[in-house]
Amino acid sequence: MSVRSTLRSVACLLALFLSSPAAFGSFPIRSREIGGTTHVVLYDVIRYYGLKSHVSGKRITLYGAETEIIFTIDSRAARINGFLFNLAHAPTLHDNEALISERDLSLSIDPILRPQTLETGNADIRRIVIDPGHGGKDSGARSRQKTNEKTINMLIARDLQWMLEDLGYEAYLTRDRDTYISLAERQRRCRQWGGDLFISIHCNSAKDKSAHGVETFVVAPEGTPKTGDYKPSTRTPGNEYDKFNTRLAYEVHRNVITATGARDRGVKRARFYVLKKASCPSILVESGFLSNADEESRLGNSRYRHDIAEAISNGIVMYHWAMAGQ
Ligand SMILES: [Zn+2]
Repeated sequence: MSVRSTLRSVACLLALFLSSPAAFGSFPIRSREIGGTTHVVLYDVIRYYGLKSHVSGKRITLYGAETEIIFTIDSRAARINGFLFNLAHAPTLHDNEALISERDLSLSIDPILRPQTLETGNADIRRIVIDPGHGGKDSGARSRQKTNEKTINMLIARDLQWMLEDLGYEAYLTRDRDTYISLAERQRRCRQWGGDLFISIHCNSAKDKSAHGVETFVVAPEGTPKTGDYKPSTRTPGNEYDKFNTRLAYEVHRNVITATGARDRGVKRARFYVLKKASCPSILVESGFLSNADEESRLGNSRYRHDIAEAISNGIVMYHWAMAGQ
C-alpha cells in the first residue's frame, strides 16, 4: 500500500468515526487497497455496526435488529432484507479476509443501516416531481399489442400524483399530456419547481421476450461502474445525492416488489441523463416489461398500475420517515 493510499484510508476511517453516533462502537474499520479500489474489512464493519454474522460457503449474512444483508464473495448481487441490491464492486477475499468496497459501504450500506446519520435538512420533503418517461413523438417501448410505453408511464404517474397530493405533498408532472419534452427540460422543470424528490416512471423492453420484472435505478456514484459494466463513472450533479438516492431507491423498490409480486431485478446503477443531471434525490422505476406478454397484460390493467403507484407512494413516505428519523 502506498503512503498516499494509506493516508486516503485513514481519511476514510476518520470520516466514518466522525459521522458515527454514540450508539455505535468505537471499533476501527481497516481498509485495503485492491486494484485501485479502497476496500474495508467486513469483519470490522460487522463489529462497528454491532451486527451478527453467519458464513456459509461464499455467502456472508449480516444480521442487525431490523436488517439482514447477504453478501456473496465475487458477486455484485447483494440482498438487503430479501431484496436484490446491485453493488458497485463484488465483495472479495484477500489474505483470508472478506472485504467490501468502501464506496458500497458508505454510499449504499450505511444509508440503509442508519439513515439518521445522513445530512440534516433532507427531511423537509414537500415537492415531488413525477416524470412520466417519453411522450409525443417519442413513444418509448412498444408492446406486441402496440401498447405505447409513454401511455402506461403517464397513467401510473397520474395515479401517483393524486395519491401524493392526498397525502399532503405538492406533486408535479414534468409533462401533463402526450407531448415530447427533452431530458434536459425535465430536469430544468424539476429545478424550477424546487423539487425535493424526482421520480421517473418507465416501462422496460427486451429482445428476450421472457425477460420480466421490476428494476429501480440510481445514478452510479463517481468512480463506480454502472450495473453490468466495469467502466467507472465520472462525477455528475446527481452524485451529490448518492446516499439519498440509495435509500429512496431501496424504499420504493421493496414496496413495488412486495405489492406487485413482480420478479425482483434489483436496485441498479446507471448513467441515465435524468438521473445524472438531478438537482435532488432521484430514481427511475422500470415498472415491468412491455415485451413480455404476461407483464404487458398486467400493465394494461388499471388495478395493477394503481398498485404500482401506491407502492411508489408508500416508498416515498417510508423514505420521508427515515429522513425524519422515525
Ligand atoms: Zn422508457
